[in-house]
Amino acid sequence: MASARIETVVVDGLALANQIRDELAAAVARHRSAGRRAPTLGVVLVGDDPASASYIKGKRRACERVGMGSVERRLPATAGERAVLEVVGELGRDPEVDGILVQLPLPKDVRPNAVAEAIDPAKDVDGLHPISAGRLLLGEPGLRPCTPLGILEILARHEVPLEGAHAVVIGRSSIVGKPVSLLLQQAHATVSMCHSRTRNLAELCRTADVLVAAVGVPRLVKGDWVKPGAAVVDVGVSEVGGELVGDVDTQAVIGQAALVTPHRRGVGPMTITMLLRNTLAAYEARAAA
Ligand code: NAP
Repeated sequence: MASARIETVVVDGLALANQIRDELAAAVARHRSAGRRAPTLGVVLVGDDPASASYIKGKRRACERVGMGSVERRLPATAGERAVLEVVGELGRDPEVDGILVQLPLPKDVRPNAVAEAIDPAKDVDGLHPISAGRLLLGEPGLRPCTPLGILEILARHEVPLEGAHAVVIGRSSIVGKPVSLLLQQAHATVSMCHSRTRNLAELCRTADVLVAAVGVPRLVKGDWVKPGAAVVDVGVSEVGGELVGDVDTQAVIGQAALVTPHRRGVGPMTITMLLRNTLAAYEARAAA
């Protein structure tokens, strides 16, 4: 007998992001009305990649929308690692800058790890400095990477139970897979972190109460990979024939999952919102220090 069709909640990540941005704007307004300066994000862009320029514009607008300041430092693609590290150091010493974000990808001669390590950990709003990563591993308070934070926020605001749940994460990158696995584990889920060498991936996914796909393989997760009633988070973004697609075959999952995030208006808007939240947190922590 075929199992009954489940009413699937398709998450509106943009609406949720806007709701959280209103909360952040109210917090910023409270600081401003107490006579304090606005929290400020420093953004570094190296080169003239149009996609990166557009992401930076989005981040500047997002800052404006919640009353935060932003400063930009642009360097030519030929600037070299030393110049990038200098600019990151300057932003670190600037008392009026609370968060530092270096837009990726970087030119080939600039090592992303060297740049991450040059960021003042107190301003590491992308959560990529080894100190931030270490604090996450140890379960100590600190700045966490934005996409994983956004995923946990989506699950929390939709009251997806995590304690004792089996969470399967596909992907083990430092920016998504590993940190989201740690955050899920800290929320008391039992986590399986999968990757390109995992055997029986489909079978493992079928045992997931929470399934997070952070891979970059178009529609990898099929409808029959999903346990009835599971929560499915699609992080992946790939381009196929000029169209953006996710890691999950969303249409096939609807009617099977209890909740799914679409690849558009899903995790993406929450990522920028968590960047703003981290900037506010860094500002407040620095003010209290
Ligand atoms: P990444 O560094 O390329 O990592 C991809 C991971 O997927 C790796 O761990 C890889 O395994 C694994 N993988 C690749 N093919 C696989 C397969 N066939 N089966 C199982 N695992 C497989 O990517 P990322 O930076 O984590 O990003 C992942 C996706 O999320 C990308 O599409 C990216 O564009 C998107 N993304 C979206 C947002 C957002 O805000 N919406 C933010 C960040 C990233 P190995 O480790 O074994 O190679």
